[in-house]
Amino acid sequence: DVDLLTDPVDKIARVGGTRHPSIPLPEDLFMPERKNSRGLDLSDDTELARVKAAVNAPLPFLDKKAPPKGDDASRAQSAVATALRGFPAWSRRSVEDRAACLDRLADLLERERDTLMALAVQEAFKTIPDALAEVREAVDFCRYYAAQARSRLQPIELPGPTGERNVLRMGGRGAFVCIAPWNFPLAIFLGQVSAALVAGNTVIAKPAPQTPEIAAFAVGLAHGAGIPEDALVYAAGGPDMGAALVADPRVAGVAFTGSTATAKRIARSLVADDARPIVPLIAETGGINAMIVDSTALPEQVVADVVTSSFRSAGQRCSALRLLVLQEEIADRTLEMLSGAMDTLVVGDPGDPRTDVGPVIDQSAYDRLMGHRAAMESRWLKTLPVPAQGLFVPPTLIGVERIEDVQQEWFGPLLHVTTWKSGKLAETIERVNASGYGLTMGLHSRIARAADTIEDLGEAGNLYVNRSMIGAIVGSQPFGGEGLSGTGPKAGGPNYLPRFCAERVTSTDT
Ligand code: GLU
Repeated sequence: DVDLLTDPVDKIARVGGTRHPSIPLPEDLFMPERKNSRGLDLSDDTELARVKAAVNAPLPFLDKKAPPKGDDASRAQSAVATALRGFPAWSRRSVEDRAACLDRLADLLERERDTLMALAVQEAFKTIPDALAEVREAVDFCRYYAAQARSRLQPIELPGPTGERNVLRMGGRGAFVCIAPWNFPLAIFLGQVSAALVAGNTVIAKPAPQTPEIAAFAVGLAHGAGIPEDALVYAAGGPDMGAALVADPRVAGVAFTGSTATAKRIARSLVADDARPIVPLIAETGGINAMIVDSTALPEQVVADVVTSSFRSAGQRCSALRLLVLQEEIADRTLEMLSGAMDTLVVGDPGDPRTDVGPVIDQSAYDRLMGHRAAMESRWLKTLPVPAQGLFVPPTLIGVERIEDVQQEWFGPLLHVTTWKSGKLAETIERVNASGYGLTMGLHSRIARAADTIEDLGEAGNLYVNRSMIGAIVGSQPFGGEGLSGTGPKAGGPNYLPRFCAERVTSTDT
């Protein structure tokens, strides 16, 4: 006598045969802001051939990356100086004016979609569907934050004692540093930048060292959209650049996406100098994301969602599934099906439309992942052959005895698997929580009470029930974690912009 959740098969039928967010869904499921970010149908052969040619077109500037002039520390100083100079004029522009710049930027991103996809494929080794999703998400961030600014950043009249007028105003804080990761080198880069800008800040934008060119191209588009050059300053460089920017006492805040260790270093740097103002750090970091599966789950859907969550983007998403926790009774059967599904994955050239899993980002990521994989060789449950040339990490299932055996985030296509005992759902969730990370957590179960339990107990920013754990949609699934996974607020959510703002209240005796 238990309440059952909607049969997943019905749900799939209702949304038109698919439920993956990167595949077009019926119009009414989307917010108006998303409308224009669609419109590329990868199931159409002619369109696919055109896109394949476009993403593989030579991008000459990628081959002759000129090292930036000057040392990182002095370039950081001059970038901050420029953004400070730009602040008075930009922060005084109306919210509408700033929001209109983001809308124009979104239009330009759509116009330049093919070049941006080519950059995502050739510089960040994204597969074609991932490259498309990357551009869409960047467009969505711009349009969403523009819409949010219009509705959330207007002055608010507050009630007060008789004879007083109280007005709350939200405005920019100053020159904000945005430090982006290589795994979403356009979407997260522009998500941070567009939020900080529309809130009234000027921005020093530091892309990841692995992906400077797509960011440089995006900054060029932003300037073309009417954002002044001293409101958005591009500052590529290595760790020295990041360190110098966050150590600069003139900066008004930092938005960072990357590792937990780097976020902590930034936090320390921001408070190191007693004389320095206290400024916000908005950090989105990693996770040891688990999915718990019980014996009532639909096996086909579990397998499809596990493959997507662990291996899409070669596992290089903060949201990706790292630890699959199967109820003992279904473990063997699920692993057998999962192994069969993994055999269908195509690992190879990201510019080939058939590819599901591309290479990892660089040699050091490759070495780290391959080192862990080799150390766990006696525990492999499944691994795949990969091309001999290139930084391909074989998608691998690694059996572990206990949840606690996975101690750190492995940022690649390595999935750890363990089991839990029937009747111990609450305890299993608590053990997952105990890692201290809290980004994504998944549950596959048809029992409504199990979904309630994970909602009550799961300490993670994004809980996913009976679906994949990646691909949060701007405005629908605000994204970000807690604990070791980040500070919040959530990107793509209604509470994001205010954190970039200074709030001022004027109380006038009338
Ligand atoms: N928002 C992305 C997702 O839901 C993950 C972001 C990240 O990897 O930083 O898959």
